[in-house]
Amino acid sequence: MTDLQSRAELQLQLSPDQLHKIRDRMESFDARSSDEGEAVNFRFVFGEASLVMPEGALIMRARSPHPDGLARLKDLMATAVEFYAKESQPRIVWQGDLAGRGELEQFREATVVDAMDLTPHMKRVRLKARNLERFASFGGLHVRMLFPTATVPDPVWPVRGDNGLVSWPDETRRPTTRVYTIRRLDVAGGHFDVDFLIHEGENVGSNWASHARPGDKVGIMGPLGRPIRPADWYVMGADETGLPAIGRIIESLPVTTRGVAFIEVADGGERQVIEHGTGIELHWLYRNGVPGGESKVLADAVMSVAWPKLGTSFGWFAAEAEAAKRVRDHWRSDLALGRDQTIASAYWTQGDAGTMAG
Ligand SMILES: Cc1cc2nc3c(=O)[nH]c(=O)nc-3n(C[C@H](O)[C@H](O)[C@H](O)COP(=O)(O)OP(=O)(O)OC[C@H]3O[C@@H](n4cnc5c(N)ncnc54)[C@H](O)[C@@H]3O)c2cc1C
Repeated sequence: MTDLQSRAELQLQLSPDQLHKIRDRMESFDARSSDEGEAVNFRFVFGEASLVMPEGALIMRARSPHPDGLARLKDLMATAVEFYAKESQPRIVWQGDLAGRGELEQFREATVVDAMDLTPHMKRVRLKARNLERFASFGGLHVRMLFPTATVPDPVWPVRGDNGLVSWPDETRRPTTRVYTIRRLDVAGGHFDVDFLIHEGENVGSNWASHARPGDKVGIMGPLGRPIRPADWYVMGADETGLPAIGRIIESLPVTTRGVAFIEVADGGERQVIEHGTGIELHWLYRNGVPGGESKVLADAVMSVAWPKLGTSFGWFAAEAEAAKRVRDHWRSDLALGRDQTIASAYWTQGDAGTMAG
């Protein structure tokens, strides 16, 4: 098959610091980078990308045999450049294959087929959508879910804009987005499960899930998230919001994997079965009346674990922002571990609506 190719040229001079950060981010998505004259090349399993930097300009190139791969490369590069060079307000316009207005590769409309209570506060919603293969690719476990709300009950879904990036055709009917994990994905069966924590307060995602009925429509975009690095040993921690991800990760690891995982839930009634054959010891921690986001037990437990001196190791953590910050600081500053050995993410922020995945 001939490779699909895209190119975008910007009047933008990246500083060495911006380039370093962009490179670091691309590598964290499992790219191998190399220098070649005024270019930095990135090789992914699904294609290749490069940043070419002649004086005063930035040329981004992407090539892949598959439309999904090309779209992923464009998305990764555009997100990194838009984020790290945001003060220059780069205007990215892709040319070549898959350029111009059209269907957005990373979007699907999904329909609820079933909804059930897993525990008193966790609702599993099964959804179907066409061609889910993309969501099994790139090592990303999560999706941005696009919800109807009381103010926008009939949202207009996003499309690929003239610049090749996400465009919202009608700002007044834009859906509200939240990030969730695909707990189980059945590509052949055309369906997937999302487990929603049903929590207090004015909200969108939890409220949508608690009323979800077969036939309800929702949008998904993705997949999102950095791939987990293979390792012999893992230390992991999650509250209810990270429980779907920790469950999916542990179930997918080889049986030879060793380690320790802590899961914080409200009480014993919120415990779930995670079926796995690995040597990872699972510990359930209960808040027993302490509100979510206010308990320190999860971060304390994860930080008390001594990392092995031999073999490869990885730290993974997902919970409220304050707990994630404590664990990230401990791993990165106290233990001097790198990004290639740790992911500590804020999955929600107390008092803030709709914290997004990075
Ligand atoms: C990569 C990633 C994956 C995620 N996967 C899942 C998942 O699979 N299942 C899941 O349930 N969540 C998951 N989350 C967390 C979820 O996106 C947030 O909890 C989100 O805020 C929920 O949206 P909402 O509309 O229900 O509440 P929002 O409208 O965002 O928030 C309303 C209020 O509720 C509070 N709130 C939000 N979350 C919680 C909580 N957990 N406990 C108590 N109060 C809360 C907020 O602080 C705010 O005050 C994930 C987040 C990320 C970044």
